[in-house]
Amino acid sequence: MPSSLDSGPDQTINYDAIVIGSGIGGLVTATQLAAKGANVLVLERYLIPGGSAGYFERSGYRFDVGASMIFGFGDRGTTNLLTRALAAVDQHLETFPDPVQIHYHLPQNLDLKVHRDYEKFLQELISLFPYERRGIRQFYDTCWQIFNSLNSMELLSLEELGYLARSFWQHPGSCFRLLQYLPRNVGDYARRYIKDPILLKFIDMECYCWSVVPAAQTPMINAGMVFSDRHYGGVNYPKGGVGQIALKLVEGLEASGSQIRYRSRVNKIVLEQGTAVGVQLATGETYRGQQIISNATRWDTFGHLVDEVPPAEAKWRQRYTKSPSFLSLHLGVKAEALPTNLDCHHILLNNWDEIAEPGATVFVSIPTLLDPSLAPPGHHIVHAFTPSWVKDWQVRSQTQYNAQKQAAAQKLISRLQQIIPNLDQHIHHMEVGTPRTHRRFLGRQDGTYGPIPSRQLWGLVGMPFNRTAIPGLYCVGDSTFPGQGLNAVAFSGFACAHRVAKDLKL
Ligand SMILES: Cc1cc2nc3c(=O)[nH]c(=O)nc-3n(C[C@H](O)[C@H](O)[C@H](O)COP(=O)(O)OP(=O)(O)OC[C@H]3O[C@@H](n4cnc5c(N)ncnc54)[C@H](O)[C@@H]3O)c2cc1C
Repeated sequence: MPSSLDSGPDQTINYDAIVIGSGIGGLVTATQLAAKGANVLVLERYLIPGGSAGYFERSGYRFDVGASMIFGFGDRGTTNLLTRALAAVDQHLETFPDPVQIHYHLPQNLDLKVHRDYEKFLQELISLFPYERRGIRQFYDTCWQIFNSLNSMELLSLEELGYLARSFWQHPGSCFRLLQYLPRNVGDYARRYIKDPILLKFIDMECYCWSVVPAAQTPMINAGMVFSDRHYGGVNYPKGGVGQIALKLVEGLEASGSQIRYRSRVNKIVLEQGTAVGVQLATGETYRGQQIISNATRWDTFGHLVDEVPPAEAKWRQRYTKSPSFLSLHLGVKAEALPTNLDCHHILLNNWDEIAEPGATVFVSIPTLLDPSLAPPGHHIVHAFTPSWVKDWQVRSQTQYNAQKQAAAQKLISRLQQIIPNLDQHIHHMEVGTPRTHRRFLGRQDGTYGPIPSRQLWGLVGMPFNRTAIPGLYCVGDSTFPGQGLNAVAFSGFACAHRVAKDLKL
C-alpha cells in the first residue's frame, strides 16, 4: 500500500500544479513537472495509483486491472516513454521481454503469431498470403517510416512553438513525413497495398485490438508506433505486475518533493474570472494551484468538474464518441490447465462480421507465463476481456446483476477453452468486472475504454492537445493526443508537462 495514504497536503500552499487523477497520463505529467522543480499535488479518488493501469490482489494473486501488453519499455530511441518517464525521477523497472506480441486465433482458421522478430512475423504472414508478399512488405514498411521519424526526435508538446521550430530545424525530413501521415488512416494504406479481403480483415483486427475501431478509422501515426515498436523496443512486462509502473512513478514523485493524496475525489475545478485556480474535493477541502491538470476523461471533466462545455469541447464530442467498456474475467487457475508453449497474449474471434460486437472479440493475457510471482506456486492468472456496453448492465436487483455476471463469465470461459481445454475444471479463483465496475473503480464515464471516431476523420488531426478553452486548465490522458494505451498517455504526459512548464516559466 502506498506510504502517503495518510499524509495530508497543506491547504494554504499555492501549488505550481495540481493534477486530478493518478493514471499514467497524470503521473507522467506530475513527475516530469516535479523533476523540473515544480511543487505538484496529485489528487486521486481511489486507494492506489494507476487507474486503468492499476492492480488488485485476491487469494494470493495480483491481477492487472486492464493494461498488460506494455509498449514503451525499450532501451533505445526516443519512443520508450515509460523507461524515460521513470528515469526522469531516478526510477527503473525490471521487465520480461515477450517473444510474441499476440497469438491470433481468427476466423477461417487464420492462426498466426506476431513475433518480436519483424522478419519472422512477416515470413509467417507471407506464408499464409504468398500472393500478397509485396503488399505486406509495403504496408508494414510504411509503418516503419512513421516510427523511425517519431523515434528520431524528442516527443514533446506540439503546442510549444520553440519546440516545433527546433524539431523542424533539426529533423526536417522526419517532421514533413509525420505531417504527411497525420491526416491519414490505416485503411488508406492497407487498401493501397493489399487486395486480399481476408488479409484486409486481418489488418482490421491488427488495428481493432488496440484502437477498438477498424483500419479505416485508425490513425496511421498510432499504427506506425504500434506496428513497429513491437519489433523495436518490443512488448515487455514489468516485474511485479503493471501496477508497479504507477507505484514507481509515485515513489519518484515523492522523492522529488511533490505529493500524492489518495481517497481524494475532486468534485469541482474552482474558476476565478474564468481561469482555473484550484480544486474542491468531495469533502469540501480546497487546494489552490497555478495550473490545474485533469487526468479524468474529457467527458468527466467538462460538464462535471467544470460546469461548462466550451464550444471546442462540444465540437470534439461530435467528432469522437465513447467506445464501449469491457467485460473482464480475472481467473486464478491451476498450472496443469495450461498447454505447453502457450503465449502470453491472445485474440480470439469466430466471425469477421462480428469483430466489434460485444462478446465477439476476446482479448486474453496470461502474465504469469512471464512473471510467475503474480500467482501462488503452481497457479497462473488468466485475464480475458471483451467489449461490453454499460447500457446492457442496467439490471433491477443485485441478484439479477450477479446472475448476469455469472452467465457472461461462463460464456467467456467456454470461449477460452479454444486455447485452454478443460479450463472450467481448473479454476481456483474468479473475479468478474463489468462496465459498471470500470465506471465505479476507474471513474470513467460509462466505463469507456476511451474516445473513438464517430465517423471517418482525418487521422489524428481532430485529437486535442493538452491546453483547453479554460485558461489554467489542461487535460492529459487518453482523451488527448495521441489517444489510448500506456505509451500513448505517457506521450500525452510528456507533452502536457512540457507545455505547463513553459507556462510556469520553469
Ligand atoms: C481492460 C483494459 C485493457 C487494456 N489493455 C491495454 C494494454 O494491454 N496495453 C496498453 O498500453 N493499454 C491498455 N489499455 C489502455 C490503457 O490502460 C489506458 O489507455 C490508460 O491506462 C489510460 O490512462 P489515463 O492516464 O488516460 O487515465 P486512467 O487510467 O483512466 O486514470 C485516470 C485516474 O484519474 C482518477 N480520477 C478520475 N476522476 C477523478 C476525480 N474527479 N478526482 C480524483 N481522481 C480522479 C481515476 O481514479 C484514475 O486513477 C487497457 C485498458 C483497459 C480498460
